[in-house]
Amino acid sequence: MKTDWAELGGDSPGTSRRIACLRYGTEGARPKVYLQAGLHADEMPGVLVLQHLMTHLDAVEAQGGIRGEILVVPAANPVGLSQWAFQRPLGRQEFDTLHNFNRGYPAFGPRAGDLVEGRLTDDAAGNAALIRTALRTALAEETEKARTAMVRGQLALMDWSIDADHVLDLHCDHFAVMHLYASPARPADTSLLCRCTGAKVALIEEVSGGNAFDEAHTVPWARLRDRFPDHPIPAGCFSTTLEYRGQFDVSDDLAAADARGLMSYLAAVGALTGWDAPPQHPDAPHLPLGGAGEAIAPQGGVVTWIARPGDSVAEGEVIAEVTDPMTRLRMAVRAPNAGILFRTELWKSCLRGQGLAHVAGTEVVRDGDLLSD
Ligand SMILES: [Zn+2]
Repeated sequence: MKTDWAELGGDSPGTSRRIACLRYGTEGARPKVYLQAGLHADEMPGVLVLQHLMTHLDAVEAQGGIRGEILVVPAANPVGLSQWAFQRPLGRQEFDTLHNFNRGYPAFGPRAGDLVEGRLTDDAAGNAALIRTALRTALAEETEKARTAMVRGQLALMDWSIDADHVLDLHCDHFAVMHLYASPARPADTSLLCRCTGAKVALIEEVSGGNAFDEAHTVPWARLRDRFPDHPIPAGCFSTTLEYRGQFDVSDDLAAADARGLMSYLAAVGALTGWDAPPQHPDAPHLPLGGAGEAIAPQGGVVTWIARPGDSVAEGEVIAEVTDPMTRLRMAVRAPNAGILFRTELWKSCLRGQGLAHVAGTEVVRDGDLLSD
């Protein structure tokens, strides 16, 4: 294992930021698997999972068991880690611009397409190699233009991940069951990851809006397949956002079990040997992200939950109540559709019209930008 440091410099005089990437295996070996946590810098469950994972990887490497290349970025966002205000960590948006740290990644499909135009052949593997080189060129061009530590940080992460076969971005929600987001391109990998992590639902969408980190790795391949239908182009990267339950689900017992799940995944995709534990969980339902309806607060006040994350609910079922403490009026919060209540909001107070929870159903109920900011 060796550690790369990406030096981001500092946006204000006298400061600097840097990001560590631990590299296991041989550079250029396949499959290449990239894992990161803490892109939303106030989400600690995944950060702890990677600490446990690295202990396993150290042991496997000592036995000579790393077959591919495995890159681990244990804390992806040093800018966000420093952001405390009102005695709380606020690592989701950058203070200066309010930019969500997991939005606005560059879309390299068009530029990569221009670079490979006229050079693709009938050899899918050769095309994939050509496209990975083009993606690297597009990334290098973008990096030339980067100014702020936030943007430099985003591109430094992609410099490690852009040509990976598997990209796992570890996050968490507010209160939630284990779930994940993935594109429809590689359902077998989605199923494998559900079986390894114990995800209760996989939310599937090709383009969710907002250019999150995971889709910056899958959308270019989809765009190139659309643009060059006469040439074989694989879905060259399986990329996912893993939601390791809720903000407060941080414990060594949970993280140790979650790290073992990721080891089963790494073994199953051929990145390492010497790990014999198979996936421990059943596959989860793969549901459209657009089928995740949002329950809305009917008034401001105190939120009291009746249903819990993981519950199956019927359309219109009362899942919570909001009490206006002045009028003493208690109003029902109803499930927007039938499905799995997989996440609820952090705070116990709310404003009228705020989203309070999401219910993953089978029927698409919304489109446009599908991710919460
Ligand atoms: Zn997040």
